[in-house]
Amino acid sequence: MTSEMDHPFVILPEEQAPEGAAHCELCELAKQRTRVIWGEGNPRASMMMILDNPGAREDRQGNEFLCGTRETLQLGMREAGIDTNDVYVSYLLKCRPVRAYNKPEARAACSPHLQLQLLQKQPLVLFGFGNIVAEAVFPDKENASVKELRGSWYEFQGIPISFTYHPLAVRRRPNLLRFFVEDLKALKEKWEEIQHGRR
Ligand code: SF4
Repeated sequence: MTSEMDHPFVILPEEQAPEGAAHCELCELAKQRTRVIWGEGNPRASMMMILDNPGAREDRQGNEFLCGTRETLQLGMREAGIDTNDVYVSYLLKCRPVRAYNKPEARAACSPHLQLQLLQKQPLVLFGFGNIVAEAVFPDKENASVKELRGSWYEFQGIPISFTYHPLAVRRRPNLLRFFVEDLKALKEKWEEIQHGRR
């Protein structure tokens, strides 16, 4: 039997897409996806993380599966002392691409879904992973990169946001793990600071 010590990662529960978005066909990814994935984790959490798109959630046999991105994300969270129950994770694109697609068109089509989520959930703090998310948040900043943006706080739709490397970049270059954990610790501090300020 596998104990929690052998496999300390969890598959965060998926939040179902709202009725109006579950059958979205606003971009070509509608033809590639198995379903719209709205987000995962605690839907009422005030700390919201943004990835570029959902990863695989099932293996070929249809069994629940933890992709490398989410495994590394949880590793970083654990090292930074962030409880998975305090986090909601969503994506720029709510459908998982499996083939090439027109990226600018898909991102533009899907961005109202993220804007709606932010309006509905009103998180206290946002955290983006990777250059694709940084570019989407700062469309006017040419080649916005995490390397330059990390370590500082900005605003997106009036909510504080900061950035770190994409978990897959950290998997490929383990020397980034130290910075990844450092950035996640800064996120936790910011989140706690805002919470205390509201009391
Ligand atoms: S990626 Fe977004 S815009 Fe495109 S079909 Fe999926 S939910 Fe709709």
